[in-house]
Amino acid sequence: MSTQQPSRGFSLEFFPPRTDAGRKRFGKVVQKLAPLSPSFVSVTFGAGGSTREGSYQTASEIVRTTELEVTPHLSCIGSTVDQIAAQLETYRTIGVRRVVALRGDVPEDEPNLPKAFDYANELVAYIRQFGGFEISVACYPEFHPEASDPNTDIDNFVRKVEAGADEAITQYFYSNDAYYRFVDAVRARGVDIPIVPGLMPMTDFKQVARFSQFCGADIPRFVRMRMEALGEDPKGQKELGIELATRQAEELLSQGAPGVHFYTLNRSEPTLRIWSNLGLPRAEARPRAAGPRPQPIH
Ligand SMILES: Cc1cc2nc3c(=O)[nH]c(=O)nc-3n(C[C@H](O)[C@H](O)[C@H](O)COP(=O)(O)OP(=O)(O)OC[C@H]3O[C@@H](n4cnc5c(N)ncnc54)[C@H](O)[C@@H]3O)c2cc1C
Repeated sequence: MSTQQPSRGFSLEFFPPRTDAGRKRFGKVVQKLAPLSPSFVSVTFGAGGSTREGSYQTASEIVRTTELEVTPHLSCIGSTVDQIAAQLETYRTIGVRRVVALRGDVPEDEPNLPKAFDYANELVAYIRQFGGFEISVACYPEFHPEASDPNTDIDNFVRKVEAGADEAITQYFYSNDAYYRFVDAVRARGVDIPIVPGLMPMTDFKQVARFSQFCGADIPRFVRMRMEALGEDPKGQKELGIELATRQAEELLSQGAPGVHFYTLNRSEPTLRIWSNLGLPRAEARPRAAGPRPQPIH
């Protein structure tokens, strides 16, 4: 990786819990992770109706109960332009200052959802014009599963930056070389925003292997074989996953990566342990003080 990147950011990603029990567990996970004082915590967006509501409820609950900066994800698929405007307005009212702008995917069981825009670059341009938000976007060091070829995929990423993205978060990957090459390629195209690597600790191998097929993340043979050799040993897989993720993040940071975005899968232990292994600072737990709600940004 050739060029120095701007200051470091360490963020965490959650998904909206779907059941009452899940919500209870999730509250505890957030309280355990809050003392890490990440740059922000992001909340994924599901295009279907109930999951869309879940994203807002989860984000607003974190705003209400902690001092964490909350960054909701928004996608073109699953909303009309008017709904996106309403979501942005609501988020602005509760003090949200950053969103992750995505195209999203059409869910198999809901093929006819509204689509505010065709591609994420259009959503970025819309949010930029709306005003009041910093914008993160997604990028793919191993290229998007639908990409026809690497250069076209990079062209499409550059469109999002030119439309006004402030930061990019990568899809998770296990080959750091893919990240270094991607960063070099986009720096050569004049992109100077931080490209924060997404880290997915492989603590449940079957789950990650299944998802990796869908999202195009390559699992190196040596990792696959070591994981498979552990068989049905969840503790062994967790330990190996944490060790591998620690080493991966250490190397990325030593090579100048501007931070790490942790895909937490709503679990606290892997993130807490990797954070500590990396020697990253922690703050004291800071529940949100009682008082006026955060002011909207104008
Ligand atoms: C950090 C991160 C967070 C995510 N969070 C969520 C989430 O919360 N909810 C969710 O549903 N999904 C999420 N995803 C998955 C994401 O929605 C999918 O990968 C989706 O298929 C692409 O979204 P995108 O924003 O990258 O799309 P885009 O940047 O629009 O790209 C999608 C595809 O279209 C091509 N393309 C882009 N622009 C153009 C153009 N103008 N003309 C022609 N082709 C173009 C690209 O090369 C790519 O192949 C996330 C992914 C990442 C990496």
